[in-house]
Amino acid sequence: MRQKIVAGNWKCNTTLQEGIELAKAVDATVAEKGARDVVVILGTPFTHITKVVEAINTGRIGVAAQNCASEAKGAYTGEVSAAMVKSTGAEYVILGHSERRQYYGETSGILNKKLALALENGLTPIYCCGEALEVREAGAQNEFVKQQLAETVFTLSPEDFKKIVIAYEPIWAIGTGRTATSAQAQEMHAFLRGTIAEKYGKEIADGTSILYGGSCNPKNAKELFANPDVDGGLIGGASLKAEDFIEIINAY
Ligand code: PEP
Repeated sequence: MRQKIVAGNWKCNTTLQEGIELAKAVDATVAEKGARDVVVILGTPFTHITKVVEAINTGRIGVAAQNCASEAKGAYTGEVSAAMVKSTGAEYVILGHSERRQYYGETSGILNKKLALALENGLTPIYCCGEALEVREAGAQNEFVKQQLAETVFTLSPEDFKKIVIAYEPIWAIGTGRTATSAQAQEMHAFLRGTIAEKYGKEIADGTSILYGGSCNPKNAKELFANPDVDGGLIGGASLKAEDFIEIINAY
């Protein structure tokens, strides 16, 4: 179902204690003055999920893992399975983030295994796609992102595709302070929605939440979220400060 979503991606930041404090601060403010019709998600490190789930008690915030294993279980030292994530109380999992593709060699093949396991275990994947600067400068961003989808989420059945959230995150905008302009975001989101419509039909495309990610902050969120095809944001740096994150939520 298409929803307005503001999801934080804490990445490899915060100790457990700092994470709990941050979650409590967001939870308290969301309860008091957070926009009612926005789904708020905190993407925490694995180690924090159980405690963050316990710490938030307004029932208005969901928790996401930032990754899950590509195998169901077994001798994979250091990995955390989708079933384990689900058992913590998390409802979402971020998959395909460009940092995971770039630093941990996540290919479409690996992502397809993760997507399948996430869905089997009742987690909602937040699937990230987006092009590097060279691709944007060559004007090839549409084909690039379409290919990313074709190799991964477009292999899902319509029933499964309906369960996922897409996040468009141009790599050149992640953590760089260089945000896509509102027009660039709308253009790509409309293209993505059109591409989903070609594959699964208009009804499913119109029901898909497509988030923007890349240096979104309290100053630019309102303009980005005002676009008809932008259904919210995946927020990295600005999700680490409760006040900034709340301001972004309230940009709606
Ligand atoms: C992200 O990593 O998902 C992200 C959007 O980061 P930032 O907001 O810091 O650019």
